[in-house]
Amino acid sequence: MINDPDINDCIYRLIDDGHCAETAVDLAINDWIELFAKTNSSYLIERINDIQDVKNHLIKHIIGDKTNRLNRINKDVIVVSDDLTPSDTLTLDNKHIKAFVTANGGMTSHTAIIAKSLKIPSIVAVKDAMQKLNNGELIILDAYSGLIIQNPSHEEIDKYLKLQKDHILYQKSLERFIEQKACTIDGKAVALCANVSNVKDVKDALEHGADGIGLLRTEFLYLESADFPSEEEQFAIYREILMMNKDNRVVVRTLDIGGDKKLAYFNMPNENNPFLGQRAIRFCKAQQAVFKTQIRALLKASIFGKLSIMFPMIATLEEFIWAKELVMQEKTKLIKAGFEVSDDIKIGMMIEIPTAAIMAQDYARFADFFSIGTNDLVQYMMAADRTLESVSYLYQPLHPAILRLIKMVVDGAHLYGKEVAVCGESASDERAIKLLVGLGVDELSMNASAVLRVKDIICRNLYKDFKDLADEALLKDRQEKVLDLLSKQG
Ligand code: PEP
Ligand code: MG
Repeated sequence: MINDPDINDCIYRLIDDGHCAETAVDLAINDWIELFAKTNSSYLIERINDIQDVKNHLIKHIIGDKTNRLNRINKDVIVVSDDLTPSDTLTLDNKHIKAFVTANGGMTSHTAIIAKSLKIPSIVAVKDAMQKLNNGELIILDAYSGLIIQNPSHEEIDKYLKLQKDHILYQKSLERFIEQKACTIDGKAVALCANVSNVKDVKDALEHGADGIGLLRTEFLYLESADFPSEEEQFAIYREILMMNKDNRVVVRTLDIGGDKKLAYFNMPNENNPFLGQRAIRFCKAQQAVFKTQIRALLKASIFGKLSIMFPMIATLEEFIWAKELVMQEKTKLIKAGFEVSDDIKIGMMIEIPTAAIMAQDYARFADFFSIGTNDLVQYMMAADRTLESVSYLYQPLHPAILRLIKMVVDGAHLYGKEVAVCGESASDERAIKLLVGLGVDELSMNASAVLRVKDIICRNLYKDFKDLADEALLKDRQEKVLDLLSKQG
């Protein structure tokens, strides 16, 4: 196949058009795969996996095995690269990789989110990082303030060593909140839950006193597997996570693949705008066998704890009703086959698409709860790709339009007595917390390591002040004015 003159011509043509070699191979072979898929020949269709395999081998030869290169690092380093995919980031070893900088990406890209859960400080979207930062150079990376200091002086090194020490002491001092619930001085309770991707993250959540799991990003089970995980494999993991949280709710988000998360073993459609394409619930609708496997594993595990299921990227009511009905049908089938399934499973949806946010009041009659995914909601509201450095200036999670939309969701849900969580990165953004609580959000879900810091902020303040602040922010006409308002509050 590699010697096929047609494929070679196509690859060379794509390279002449300006594509790099690995992209050219990817595009050329994908065209062939599409052709095979369109035939009625089961023989040719069965060959698709083999062709996929040839493609992956070729690409691996061209780019080298990046994964292994990163894993072979045996001294403390800060990695500087053009970009890291979520899958690259999953393989980073935080023993030697102390931090990373990427030229591309965004603060809410999945690469940045995974880095947080691995406790690797990172700064993304540093446009000229590859030109300005040199191999072997000493740098200080301050991810809190987004600062990189090249060749620091002795004074700067001393200053940062002291900051690092103070930070460790501050983290230690927060441990007094582990057993305490988040509640403002005037009695407004806010549930603080954790966003997790695997069992290790769940352990972290328990150690940091989270009130439950507000978002289990199940796609990472799929990204870390060599093939779609089976019903049994998934069941074992869901059961373990539910059992670890016996008394607390575990909100499991069904597979959210696509966008910046691609499966190596599945030929995802080649789309011009992957974030607007067959992602999340849309992928599951197109691949119903994959979706059913996950739902059955979840239903079987449901008796081991307090399970909630939520669907990502819901735009229309039809999508939600379709997914919910599928859950009900699988439940009936399992019970008929003799399995036990919990009758206390809540079924909710993520609010990440403006349509769903605007229609919250209507959708609230059908969903048990909402969880606002601000990472996507901001990207779709501003029409600015969350992973693209060149439009990152438009990525404004505190824009009054976003705040007004969140208020609409909260009011719509509360009308029907349904709870609203925020599980995007805004939930742990110091600037956003006061506003979100002031807007009436019931739960914040975040990376486990942020839970105690957020508790500290909530417990030190009055809900009345949060509400006044939010009311004032809603009246502004640009994010800058909201930021001004927040900085005046201190
Ligand atoms: C979100 O969009 O805010 C969210 C929590 O989901 P993800 O970041 O995985 O897209
Ligand atoms: Mg999302």
